[in-house]
Amino acid sequence: MNDFINEHEINHTRKLHTCFGCQEPIPIGSHAKYQSGMFENNFFDGHFCNQCEKIQDECPYFHEMAAEGYCEGDILTNCRQCNQAKDCKIRHKGVDV
Ligand SMILES: [Zn+2]
Repeated sequence: MNDFINEHEINHTRKLHTCFGCQEPIPIGSHAKYQSGMFENNFFDGHFCNQCEKIQDECPYFHEMAAEGYCEGDILTNCRQCNQAKDCKIRHKGVDV
């Protein structure tokens, strides 16, 4: 089975979701991204908050990590551990340097 990924934007969530990237709640009525797909024969799906979506799209260090796959909470963890966080403008909220 080949890896694939599907995603769509949700403008106003109707249920409370937990963000896959940072494990924080995404409030009802907020914008979120839903992704599902297959990575190395494992099905995954999850919602992503705006912060994590921005990191996914724009952070070059995230792209290095994501190439190997990542688990729940890893976007925030990676952001916290990133040596570049001081100079980075796409930090996850709650990450202090
Ligand atoms: Zn998040």
